[in-house]
Amino acid sequence: MKAIIRENETVKKIADCEEVFWINPNVNAYDKGEVIVDTDDAEARLKRFAPFIKRVFPEVADGIIEAPLTEISSVRKQLPVKGRLFLKQDSHLPISGSVKARGGIYEVLKLAETIAVREGRLSLEDDYAKLADPEFREFFSGYKVAVGSTGNLGLSIGIISATIGFEVTVHMSADARQWKKDMLRSKGVKVVEYPDDYEAAVAQGRKEADSDSLCHFVDDENSLDLFAGYSVAGRRTKAQLDEMGIVIDAEHPLYLYLPCGVGGAPGGITYGFKSIFGENVHCYFAEPTHAPCMTLGLASGLHNKISVGDIGIDGKTEADGLAVGRPSGLVSAAMSTRLDGCFTVDDDKLYGYLAQLKDAEGIFIEPSACAAFEGLVHTYEIAPESAIHILWATGGNMVPEEEKEAYYNRGKSNVANNSISSI
Ligand SMILES: *Cc1c(COP(=O)(O)O)cnc(C)c1O
Repeated sequence: MKAIIRENETVKKIADCEEVFWINPNVNAYDKGEVIVDTDDAEARLKRFAPFIKRVFPEVADGIIEAPLTEISSVRKQLPVKGRLFLKQDSHLPISGSVKARGGIYEVLKLAETIAVREGRLSLEDDYAKLADPEFREFFSGYKVAVGSTGNLGLSIGIISATIGFEVTVHMSADARQWKKDMLRSKGVKVVEYPDDYEAAVAQGRKEADSDSLCHFVDDENSLDLFAGYSVAGRRTKAQLDEMGIVIDAEHPLYLYLPCGVGGAPGGITYGFKSIFGENVHCYFAEPTHAPCMTLGLASGLHNKISVGDIGIDGKTEADGLAVGRPSGLVSAAMSTRLDGCFTVDDDKLYGYLAQLKDAEGIFIEPSACAAFEGLVHTYEIAPESAIHILWATGGNMVPEEEKEAYYNRGKSNVANNSISSI
């Protein structure tokens, strides 16, 4: 590991917790025929479940869990960006208020469908609203779901599993927020806490699930179901762009800025967008300087064979959704030829972006989600004036009011430190 730090300029900076911008030399070298997940199949499954979702979550009017794509013209004036700027508000996704409402809910729905069909209680042509009947809850209570999580994945998996009737356990790292643990417990979810980091929570969750054949472990690092659920975002967003009359082509390329933890959410989203827009979409991952696992894995070429701890980084960050020390091997391999690049951002800046967005647009997103903003600094000289930029706001709506206010106040006091506000 010492040699890697000495020989690779980017890795050297990463090891010093400096902000970096890594450009992928192999972007678009992927095999265009390669299918990692079947996004059509995932979208069809989500449509089958729409009547169920509508019944158990009446606030989701059409039963389709989707978020607005909002042009943010006011805050744009304060940012280094020449094209049009949008916010994809996964922060306001129904049910769990984060990007995890895509992959996490999808995986649990697929599990419920698989079990019910296998046991002869459901066929694909049925009206899935019946899955909310008491006898189905009773039936599903014989099965278990487990997950290890920094917070938001646990929220998604916990809420949807408990709604279906599964017995669900969420293994959480110590850095997970207290309100998330409280909320889950209030919904009947078993929450187990670990003093160590995220990896330890995941390892324990996996171990317990492995010894129980009725227990399904949601594997954040290796799950193709999560990846498939996230990938649907590409076509859904294309439909939103179409509706606004926005065409993406070589003259009007799309730039996406995606906060990255273990990589599943931004990776699946990138996969979905690349399969639609090909070389006309440019995807960048955002990570904290103290937990830059994907940037490290890609820049070193070692993928999940290296963790931030290996180069002496503590992995501690205010961006709890991104506090991951080792990237998903599945995702980092897929991204090595699909991603345009990665950048890291100091924690201090996140709150400034948070307050700026709130003041200019009246929209609150959580600190992790704010990491995306920093990408604009890096593409300012690269992207043409005709580009369309989308900041992927990965979470925020479930944060309790008093915490929102504390985050905002912190941002107000350090907004002057931000590189963007000085441009
Ligand atoms: C989970 C999460 C991410 C990143 O998703 P990964 O699949 O871990 O890469 C980003 N932002 C927020 C708010 C999250 O909860």
